[in-house]
Amino acid sequence: MSQSMQVNRADFDRLMVPNYAPVDMIPVRGDGSRLWDQQGRDYIDLAGGIAVNALGHAHPQVVEALTEQAQKLWHVSNIMTNEPALRLASKLVAATFADKVLFVNSGAEANEAAFKLARRWAHDQVGPDKHEIIACSNSFHGRTLFTVSVGGQPKYSQGFGPAITGISHVPYNDIAALEAQISARTCAVVVEPVQGEGGVIPASAEYLKAVRALCDKHDALLIFDEVQSGMGRTGKLYAYMHSGVAPDILTSAKGIGGGFPIAAMLTTGRVAPALSVGSHGSTYGGNPLGCAVAERVLDIINTPQVLDGVGERQAQLTAGLRQLADELGVFSDIRGQGLLIGAVLAERWRGQAGQVMKLAQEEGLLVLQAGADVVRLAPSLIIPEADIREGLGRLRSALLRLVG
Ligand SMILES: *Cc1c(COP(=O)(O)O)cnc(C)c1O
Repeated sequence: MSQSMQVNRADFDRLMVPNYAPVDMIPVRGDGSRLWDQQGRDYIDLAGGIAVNALGHAHPQVVEALTEQAQKLWHVSNIMTNEPALRLASKLVAATFADKVLFVNSGAEANEAAFKLARRWAHDQVGPDKHEIIACSNSFHGRTLFTVSVGGQPKYSQGFGPAITGISHVPYNDIAALEAQISARTCAVVVEPVQGEGGVIPASAEYLKAVRALCDKHDALLIFDEVQSGMGRTGKLYAYMHSGVAPDILTSAKGIGGGFPIAAMLTTGRVAPALSVGSHGSTYGGNPLGCAVAERVLDIINTPQVLDGVGERQAQLTAGLRQLADELGVFSDIRGQGLLIGAVLAERWRGQAGQVMKLAQEEGLLVLQAGADVVRLAPSLIIPEADIREGLGRLRSALLRLVG
């Protein structure tokens, strides 16, 4: 059988398109907040598959939902609807500002749908001139050509030919800059309530309120990209719930499937009709397998037990990180919201987040970076206290080697 074929990390360089540079070890098994590699070495997982494994690895109830559905129905196409999709949509609508849901397969696709919806809505309501999208510098919205164009990091769109036009960028958390840029030509403003890839920077509630007011004044739609900040990551189901500012469109991915690829675009009854029959679609979007998994993930996460637990774990993790900052002087700031945490490297260690990641991995710990200056943590929302303690201990060993 082909499944007994031996493979190793060198095969990656031989076989794969070189757009990634994966670490040396290959994980083969996960359980909760632990991973094991080909050699049987264990890792504490504070990376969570980049904020995806919201319930850790192989959560028994999620495995149950997946395997039950796998024996019933995987895919039917959007010529038909299906029960898991309708149940999941009903629960998302009940839990949020939204009246309508579109399912897709990834964060980029959810944002692609959001931007297309905003343009089509403005086109139908006002006309083709109202097509401009305002995004924030340093934002991240995915890797399709439209979403890298909207994203505020030029390095991701350079060299890919004519960019999509009608997009401008303003500094994050800067009300005056948005006020100066927004106009009657603006169809949408897109904001991450917590900038993830951009360095784990939360928006202030004051900023979000002002963005909402400016959108209302100029009849523009407010889009919250909650691909990373959503699904309980910040201690509420969605980060917008902390500020009380509701968007017109919200995108959700990463944690929504707990590791299964599924994403959603949520919107209101006022805006949704612009995506009329035939205007947009996806072969796999809303397939019963993904929706059954996401329904179970939502059932588990959207409970006081899990959401309140995020705050407790955040407190434990940030206290440990502050202690390391005091002891070793490596971090100048610990920031973020809930279990999306950024440890900012102090002046002396700027640019070395990748090195910290590498040293941590050697100590049996998985962490992330958010740019070159920020070590990012996005663990399971239900990571056990003991794994946090052990993870902090392994991080200390890695940082001791960094400071030499
Ligand atoms: C990860 C991410 C995306 C892209 O999601 P994919 O599933 O990789 O397409 C979009 N927006 C934000 C805020 C993200 O963190």
